[in-house]
Amino acid sequence: MFDSLPSSPLLQSLQAQLKEYPNLMAAYEKLEPLILQAFDAARMSLFQKRAQQQDLVARFKTGQETKEIKVPISPASIAGYVAMSQQPLIINDPYDDEQLSSIHQRLRFDKKFDRASQFKTECILCIPVMNAGVMMGVMQIINKNGAGFDQKDLETGMQIAEMLGDKFRYELGGTKNPFDYLVLRGLTTENVIEDVAKLNNTRAIVSKLTTEFRIPENEIGNALSVHYQVPFIDYLPDTYHMYQSNSRLNLSYLKRNFVAVIADAHENATVLMAEPNNAALLMEIESALGIDSYEIAVGLPTHILKYLGETSAGSGPGDMDEILDEIGTSGEELEDQSDEMAEDAPAVVRLVSRILHDAKRLNASDIHIDPEKGAPTRVRMRVDGVVRDINQVPASHHNAVIARIKIMSSLNIAEKRIPQDGKLAFKMSGQPVEVRVATIPTVAGEGVVMRILATGGAMPIEKMNLSPRNMNMIEAMIKKPHGIMLVVGPTGSGKTTTLHAILGYLNTPDKKIWTAEDPVEITQPGLQQVQVSPKIGFTFANALRAFLRADPDIILIGEMRDKETAHAGIEASLTGHLVLSTLHTNSAPETITRLLDLGLDPVNFSDACVGILAQRLIRTLCGSCREPYQANEDDIAFLKRQYGAEYFDELELGENITLHRAKGCDNCGDTGYKGRTGVHELLSMTNELRALVYKEAAVSKMKAQAMNDGMRTLTQDAILKVVKGDTDIPQVQILGGSD
Ligand SMILES: [Zn+2]
Repeated sequence: MFDSLPSSPLLQSLQAQLKEYPNLMAAYEKLEPLILQAFDAARMSLFQKRAQQQDLVARFKTGQETKEIKVPISPASIAGYVAMSQQPLIINDPYDDEQLSSIHQRLRFDKKFDRASQFKTECILCIPVMNAGVMMGVMQIINKNGAGFDQKDLETGMQIAEMLGDKFRYELGGTKNPFDYLVLRGLTTENVIEDVAKLNNTRAIVSKLTTEFRIPENEIGNALSVHYQVPFIDYLPDTYHMYQSNSRLNLSYLKRNFVAVIADAHENATVLMAEPNNAALLMEIESALGIDSYEIAVGLPTHILKYLGETSAGSGPGDMDEILDEIGTSGEELEDQSDEMAEDAPAVVRLVSRILHDAKRLNASDIHIDPEKGAPTRVRMRVDGVVRDINQVPASHHNAVIARIKIMSSLNIAEKRIPQDGKLAFKMSGQPVEVRVATIPTVAGEGVVMRILATGGAMPIEKMNLSPRNMNMIEAMIKKPHGIMLVVGPTGSGKTTTLHAILGYLNTPDKKIWTAEDPVEITQPGLQQVQVSPKIGFTFANALRAFLRADPDIILIGEMRDKETAHAGIEASLTGHLVLSTLHTNSAPETITRLLDLGLDPVNFSDACVGILAQRLIRTLCGSCREPYQANEDDIAFLKRQYGAEYFDELELGENITLHRAKGCDNCGDTGYKGRTGVHELLSMTNELRALVYKEAAVSKMKAQAMNDGMRTLTQDAILKVVKGDTDIPQVQILGGSD
């Protein structure tokens, strides 16, 4: 801070002028001649940083009109570079490109102002105007009489910049401490801010302010925005994603420094930093990114980690590790307190909320809260079909956590001896998320399994990753005005997703679509969706009969569980409706035998059936780390054996086959896999096949005919996806041979 009076009389009168005028622009007319006199220089510009746009604006008056010069904070101009590096600079020949590039590879002098004004810039002194460590603007002095600028000019310049910085602060509403604005807003006191400042760690300070002092995160963000004079960006995963060139930056480096490069839907990059005044860090990021145009914004440390894909950091309920720290994880000493821990204790409430939020963010399908005898409770989640350990809850808190979940799902907390079923809902990013809850008493205590119901709309049919043959055939099948189409596979093979993708394709205003589901997981506007409830006697067969009286075009029957439903479905399809349904069978040809075994009439069924799609989900390789390699002899032998030697040539693989394998990186939790894709086996009811169904031929005969008609098995489709690079050979091995 500039405490003592400035030494020279010139600077003293400068400070007097600054005090006299409330507004910097008003003072500028008086200031300019004084400053130019101090340097014996020809021209100056005073750039002000605009908080909401990452650029500098110099406003100067020519006659009556105020002109603006805008430059981005980047090496594209001298002033922009000084703003970015926050270091003063003397350039004694701006036309010497070599001198410029020795300072920064991409540093340029913008010659267009010289050209426009027929003025020749010979030397520049450029100084950042700072306040409380935050860059507020840039002062640029041009052309010193006689010689270039020297060290003494630099010192004078720094003194003037300091005075201006103080002035800028009041003008722009900047603050001295990053959290001062919270005091101004009446959300906390100066004592609290002084106290938390001792933590000397932004992440810890923010965490303390949100958890202990209950200050909303967005208010903290606003305070940081006012202080750093850059916009605040919340954690908005629907709006922002990781900018692609992030990959050039080391993830642990980004995490350590709390910086993430994010982009909006138009790929406009923003460097999101917890401390945007860290010029050295910004310079490193800038040179790694190698782009000129990006915004700078301030974010909360936990949000930044979430953008970087960290799983244990989070917003809302607080950081999992911190909640557990707060609870204290030293198991034994807390063991005695187990009865005293209340289910409405703030830490328990936040812990359960944290678990639910983490599950949704990880895109988990199920959460398992597993009690262990004499050990901490394990919290595991099923992500992409595989259960993983997520964290632990101290045994002392087990009962409170279970009770909290039971209260949220309106279950009886006193009843701990029999299983109970319920439902709960919570909000995440403003979207409601529904969860089915099942409690099961075990010898180690009460366990809970929660199923997170898929929310949102249907997947577009093009995203199903169908082979071109399957895509064409499905389109042809579902365009038929009547008939029955079946999607088959075990639980968790993605049948519901597929049916809704098909319905999404068919869902036009000229079609009346009824669905009976148990439960309704995906909703689509335009569909009439009904939740069946066998417990009260409202079965799939009842729903189907009701639909037939309700003028349908297309009917979805969640599952053909029994003969009655299967019969009703076939009847409906024979009377001019398109019916979609599912069965728990393993392959398409096997489905036919299963239905005939249920007692369906072979002639009716084969007339009604348009197609059967069998499917499974397999894990896909992580796009960030999958590793290409040249297939060796064993790989090729495997592919040939699994695809079938007689079909292998149709893959047209050529000599050198490139496959991919799992590696593991930060983006995929070191598993090498991310997400899942369907593999499909699509049987089409041709006349030849129909003849075999009439005769109730053996499954093997029907399969041979279907293959002849162009069907490829689940395994063959999986091999197709290995060759495409979607997945690897081990995933085909898990799927197992189809014979
Ligand atoms: Zn990866």
